[in-house]
Amino acid sequence: MRRNLLPPFERLVTRYSLPITVTPKILILRLSSLGDIVLTTPLLVALREKYPESRIDLVIASEYETLAQVLPAVSRVHVFNKRSGFSGLLALRNQLREEKYDYVLDVHDVLRTKILRQGLGKHVSVIDKRTFKRWLLVKFKYDLLKGEPDVIGRYFEAAKKLGITDDGRAPTLKATHVRDPKRIAIAPSARHWNKRWPVEHFQRLGNTLLEKGYELTFYGSRAEIALIEEIRKGLHNGKHRSLAGELDLTDAAHSLAKCSAAITNDSGLLHVAEAVGTPVVALFGPTVKQFGFAPRAASAVVLEVEGLYCRPCTAIGSSECPEKHFRCMREVGPEQVVVALHTVIPAKAGI
Ligand code: SF4
Repeated sequence: MRRNLLPPFERLVTRYSLPITVTPKILILRLSSLGDIVLTTPLLVALREKYPESRIDLVIASEYETLAQVLPAVSRVHVFNKRSGFSGLLALRNQLREEKYDYVLDVHDVLRTKILRQGLGKHVSVIDKRTFKRWLLVKFKYDLLKGEPDVIGRYFEAAKKLGITDDGRAPTLKATHVRDPKRIAIAPSARHWNKRWPVEHFQRLGNTLLEKGYELTFYGSRAEIALIEEIRKGLHNGKHRSLAGELDLTDAAHSLAKCSAAITNDSGLLHVAEAVGTPVVALFGPTVKQFGFAPRAASAVVLEVEGLYCRPCTAIGSSECPEKHFRCMREVGPEQVVVALHTVIPAKAGI
């Protein structure tokens, strides 16, 4: 009797005649934002483990290009420049068509990726973003997202046909450094106003940490320099500095890897810090963990006002508090952050 010598997954593939090879050529589309791109890394690594010889490419927006050096498991990063407009999108699509991908995973599913993915690969899978369930939760506080996979899990769903499963791994970037136990990272911004913890809270927290002998390093983009300087004006004695606007994304990842902990909002730098193994205390206000962006690492803590009637009021953040009291952020006190830091930071750091 002839034995089937193929490994189990390939046997299954053969049985159902999926035209998958042991080295499928794979393309992943995730143009933005920073955090979402970092969240593709568990998928990239799992694909690489399953298909060590495969070409695994990623398309991102040009503003995140400097992250490419620390992205793991990618063969090639393609870049889309928004300023090149529709013609640029079509030119990129033509260029990608030449590659003749076997599998295209659109884990973004916006108009630009819908256009981009046309005719790109033999098999195209698209993420299920749970948009309706998210809307139900925001508008009616009706939670159908409980028990649903997080964003990383949804990326894995899109790659189901490739025979990989989500084993719960956290995001990862290629940046490891010796940590300075005294150095704490603070990333006080977020794209939208109501996802930012109040300035006075950051100031009170900063002063407490400085009194304890910690050194604070502030992170952010050039656009966030003013906010960071406003916070720093309220800091008294001690060592603090800002690297806002000075680092590209790869350097920011390396720099965050040197910190003993990071304090962030629900923002892209939360995911970068988590991905370089830095313990994180994350402040979630108008958004909730069910949206799928909570950190996975055991060394990360999310602080939030649980049970607040108006949460969540937005899926991505907005420029105001619709209820005007901003309780979701104001009621998370600096003292709570210090206690949370104590749980994530190694004891020898000294809090
Ligand atoms: S307090 Fe309520 S309404 Fe205001 S931003 Fe926070 S979640 Fe939204």
